[in-house]
Amino acid sequence: MTVNTVVKKALGVKSMVVNSMELTKTAKGESKLIVHARPHKNKQCRCPYCDNGRRLPIYDSSHELSHWRALDFGGLLVEIESESPRVTCPVHGVVTAAVPWAFPKSRFTKDFDLTVAWMARRLNKSAVSSYMRISWETVGRCVSRAREYLEPDTSSRLDELKRIGIDETSYSKGHKYITTVVNHDTNTVVWVAEGHGKSVLEAFFQQLTQEQRDAIEVVSGDGARWITACVDEYCNNACRCTDPFHVVEWATQALDELRKEAWREANNELKTLKKEIKRGRGRPAENDQASKILSTAKERAKEIKNSRYALGKAPENLTENQEVKLAMIQANDNRLYRAYMMKESLRLLLKTKDPIKAEMELNHWLSWAQRCRIPTFVELGRKIKRHKEFIMNFIRTGISNARVEANNNKISLLIHRSFGFRNLTNLVDLIMLVCSNIVIPLSNRASMVKKSA
Ligand SMILES: [Zn+2]
Repeated sequence: MTVNTVVKKALGVKSMVVNSMELTKTAKGESKLIVHARPHKNKQCRCPYCDNGRRLPIYDSSHELSHWRALDFGGLLVEIESESPRVTCPVHGVVTAAVPWAFPKSRFTKDFDLTVAWMARRLNKSAVSSYMRISWETVGRCVSRAREYLEPDTSSRLDELKRIGIDETSYSKGHKYITTVVNHDTNTVVWVAEGHGKSVLEAFFQQLTQEQRDAIEVVSGDGARWITACVDEYCNNACRCTDPFHVVEWATQALDELRKEAWREANNELKTLKKEIKRGRGRPAENDQASKILSTAKERAKEIKNSRYALGKAPENLTENQEVKLAMIQANDNRLYRAYMMKESLRLLLKTKDPIKAEMELNHWLSWAQRCRIPTFVELGRKIKRHKEFIMNFIRTGISNARVEANNNKISLLIHRSFGFRNLTNLVDLIMLVCSNIVIPLSNRASMVKKSA
C-alpha cells in the first residue's frame, strides 16, 4: 500500500489524486501537513450544485491555489491544497468547480463539517471551538452545511403531525424570541422561527396543507392567547392543551417573587436593627445581646437571598447545602415555606396520570390557593383556574410531561448556548439537527445504528 492511499483513506476521499505532501509550520508555530491534490479525472470541472456528473467548460483556470482544512492526523493540522477553476454551468452560471472532498462554498472537508456538527450536538461551545481550532462562528457555518447535506428538504418533518407542542424561548437578555414547534410523537423539532406571537406562528400553519392541519389532534404550549387564537383559526380538529411544565414554571416564578419580597423585608429589618444598635452605643451588656440579634438577622437575610435554587428544585434533587437552607426557611419564614409547599404539591399533582384523580386534586389545590392569603399565590390560583380546562386536556392526552419538559429544556439550553451565532440560520440549523433523529456519519466508521436524539 502506498502512502498516498493511506492519506486518501485518512482524508476519507476516494476520487482524488495526491500529487505530493509537505510538512510546514503555521504562524503559531504548529506543525501543518499540506496535501497537494486534485480531483480525479472523472470528477473535474463539475458544477457543485447540479448532480448530473457532466464535465463543464472551464470559464477561467486561475492558477491560484485554494486550501481546505481537513481533520487532524493525530493532532497534526492538515490542509488540502488544489487548483479550483471556475466553470460555466448552463443552470447556475459561472461557479467555482466542485471538489469531491468539500461541500460547495466550504473551506473545510466534508468530514470536517460533519465532525463539527456531531460535536456541536453534544459538547459546549468552547469545547468544540478549541478542540477543532475554529471560531464559534465557523462552528455555526459547519453545522448549516452538514444540515443541508443530511436533510436538504426539511418539509418532510411536517408530514403526519398529530400531537404538537409550541414553545417560545427568550434569549439575549429577553430581548429576542425563538418559537419552536415540536412533534410530541417523534420528539423532534419540526419548525423554528425568530420572534413570537400570532403572526409568527401563523407562518407555520400556513405552510401546512389543509389536510395536514386537519390531521392535528393536539396542540400544547404555555397559556399564551396567540397559541389559542391560531389553534381556533387553523386546526378545526385539535384540542388545545396547556402543558404542566409551564404551569409549574408559573408557580416557580410566583414563589421567586415572594422570595424577593421576603428578602426585602428581612433586609429592612436588618437596617432598622443596625440603627437601633447605633443609638444604644455605650452599654456593653446590652450590646453583646444586640450583636447576637444582628448576626441572626444578617444570617436570615442571606439565607433567603441565596435560596432561589433550593426553593425552585424538586426536593429529591436538593444538595445537602440546599436542604439546610430549606430547613432554615421552614423554621423562620412560615409564609415562604407555605408557598414552597404549595408549589411542590402542584408539581406532584400534575404528575398524576389518572385524569379523574388529577382533577380532584387540582380542585383541592385551587381552593387551597384561594384561601392562602399570599397575594402572588392567590393570583396564581386564578390564572390556573382560567387554564384548568386546557391543563386537564393535557393530562387526558397522555403525553408525557417529563418528555415535554426535557425537550423544552434542551431547546432553551441550546438557544442560550448558541446565541453567539451572528447568523440566525446557523442557530436554526443547529436546533433542527440536535432535536432530530438524523444520524451524523463520522469519517471511516461503520454507519452508526444508534439514533441519537
Ligand atoms: Zn449547475
